[in-house]
Amino acid sequence: MVDVHCHLNFKAFENDYDEVIKRAVEAGVDTIINVGTKLDTSQRAVEMASQYDNLYAIVGVHPHHADKVTLEKSHPEQSEGSLDDWMKQLKQIAKSSTKVVAIGEIGMDNYRYQSNGITDPKAQRELFERQIELAYKLKLPLQIHNRHAGKEILEVLNAHKNLLMNIPGMFHCFSGNLAFLKRVLDLGFYVGFDGNITYKGLAPGEDTSLPDLVKATPIDKIVIETDSPYLTPEPHRGSRNEPSYAIIISRVIAQIKGIPFEEVVSQTNKNTHTIFRLNS
Ligand SMILES: [Zn+2]
Ligand SMILES: [Zn+2]
Repeated sequence: MVDVHCHLNFKAFENDYDEVIKRAVEAGVDTIINVGTKLDTSQRAVEMASQYDNLYAIVGVHPHHADKVTLEKSHPEQSEGSLDDWMKQLKQIAKSSTKVVAIGEIGMDNYRYQSNGITDPKAQRELFERQIELAYKLKLPLQIHNRHAGKEILEVLNAHKNLLMNIPGMFHCFSGNLAFLKRVLDLGFYVGFDGNITYKGLAPGEDTSLPDLVKATPIDKIVIETDSPYLTPEPHRGSRNEPSYAIIISRVIAQIKGIPFEEVVSQTNKNTHTIFRLNS
């Protein structure tokens, strides 16, 4: 099984990522895709992928950082770079390894987080568009982050349809309503679900439950992800999430859909290999 979206490249795992990876493999999660949210974490995802056969990287800049394009940690004196600089560096990182399998997590986010507020929508859109162009040049699929910005994201994707690959990629940590789900599937995207499908009730601002979205998404369009260290599934909620819990998410999807766990595993694996070029 593959965890198609997590962040072992983040500080939360710096002391024990090796054990976390071993635990995942023992649990049956044999392949892990780490995702960058800035240049430094993208670079780190690539480094980790070079150290482990079963790790891959997705590189990109999250919409939260659209207004503060940061350079690598090694150049703190230049922490603000132009978008051009910044796309140049991202391209270098993306081209530096064949284990970079997509551009992400990219997209738009209109949710007001306590720590972040809402990032300038114009900057978000420009950053998103530039990264779609980069993915097109490198022939890589997209891994999209959306929170309360489905309308804007669909606008951007529809305006850039000619830059999307045959299999355009996936929306990670899916949320929204059934009409939005349909438009996403119609564009050819796959859909990732996380541990928050085990949470009771609706997330703030949502009107369709995640189990209802799981039910409405055909199994041949679903991929499994943890978004570790975030979104820990029940009954571990409150502690750090880790890729081994992808098994729990698959079990819950099997329950919701009323199909065998083994079918969820084999079909989502197949889907993952359709989207991404993985060796394992
Ligand atoms: Zn995200
Ligand atoms: Zn993430």
